[in-house]
Amino acid sequence: MTTAQKLSFDVQLSDHARTAAERERVMESPGFGQVFTDHMISIDYTEGEGWHDARLMPYGPLALDPATSVFHYAQELFEGLKAYRQPGSDAIVSFRPYANAARFNSSARRMAMPELPEETFVESLELLVQTDREWVPTTEGHSLYLRPFMIATQPALGVNYPSKSYKYMVIASPAAAYFGASKAVSVWLSTEYTRAAPGGTGFAKCGGNYAAAFVAQRQAVENGCDQVVWLDANEHRHVEEMGGMNLFFVYGDRLLTPALTGTLLPGITRDSILALAGSLGLTAEEGRISIEEWQEGCASGELTEVFACGTAAVVTPVGSVKGADRAWTIGDGTPGPVTQRIRSELTGIQYGTRPDPHNWVHKI
Ligand code: PMP
Repeated sequence: MTTAQKLSFDVQLSDHARTAAERERVMESPGFGQVFTDHMISIDYTEGEGWHDARLMPYGPLALDPATSVFHYAQELFEGLKAYRQPGSDAIVSFRPYANAARFNSSARRMAMPELPEETFVESLELLVQTDREWVPTTEGHSLYLRPFMIATQPALGVNYPSKSYKYMVIASPAAAYFGASKAVSVWLSTEYTRAAPGGTGFAKCGGNYAAAFVAQRQAVENGCDQVVWLDANEHRHVEEMGGMNLFFVYGDRLLTPALTGTLLPGITRDSILALAGSLGLTAEEGRISIEEWQEGCASGELTEVFACGTAAVVTPVGSVKGADRAWTIGDGTPGPVTQRIRSELTGIQYGTRPDPHNWVHKI
């Protein structure tokens, strides 16, 4: 239950924080999710007691009993969002953190885990970013990636009931642009594996969804593609999403994205593009598209562009498609104008160079 339980954070600063020179060296080319800042957030939950022991503490390893239930039954969930340094003003902001808080709690309900008050979720991000603010990159297009997550911590192997204790944490990692807009990605249609089935956990951001996806992503690479595209579990025909991103199909000035049927992740970037489309002179709808319609639309020229969207890579053009028995190119295989316009509109809002009519930008 999301209650108005106000927690105060105990702050313990690191006595071995990296020096400015060390920090600058690793931030020159940070990659994605490889280097972590000096601090982390930890809040514990115990059944009957609720959330307690909220702390900001030095970044470091955890000591957990080998019987801890997360290791066995993967009762775990996570979120991903970014903090940006806005050029000129030096302001640090995040993008729609309350939407991540709401999705965190939606995942928690599906995984039989406790909800965290949205205010506490956002406050935990603010405290970590404020403490480690020097880690928010100044390089254009770079950001500080924030990874809130929750694990089941009860040391017990009983499989008939959820854990009675949990740990919520936030870690942060300076990140370069994940993959940019300059090069279109190639995608592999996965017909051997599915990501999610009706009634399953597709809409939740739980680790198990990603563990089960690695084998298909590896198959995509073995077939010469960058990313896997998931199809529906019943017919293996309708498009769901791409790896860790949602997909949009562009028919001139009309956008179509697969509807949220419960088997795909409700992306916050996807939701933002649906809301922005009108102001860019585009119409946007949620619906269904089969791989045959995708291929035929490209052959007739009616389907002009396809792009993927998500926090890490923002908006990424898709240039070509391959499956077990088919392959085709989208347009001329290079990034299209609608994709580029949507990308620059979104990044413009995030970096403060464009107006923010929906008040999505959250000052830290
Ligand atoms: N689908 C999946 C499977 C993802 O992991 C992500 C990344 N969270 C997305 C879509 C995009 O979501 P968002 O725009 O909130 O980053």
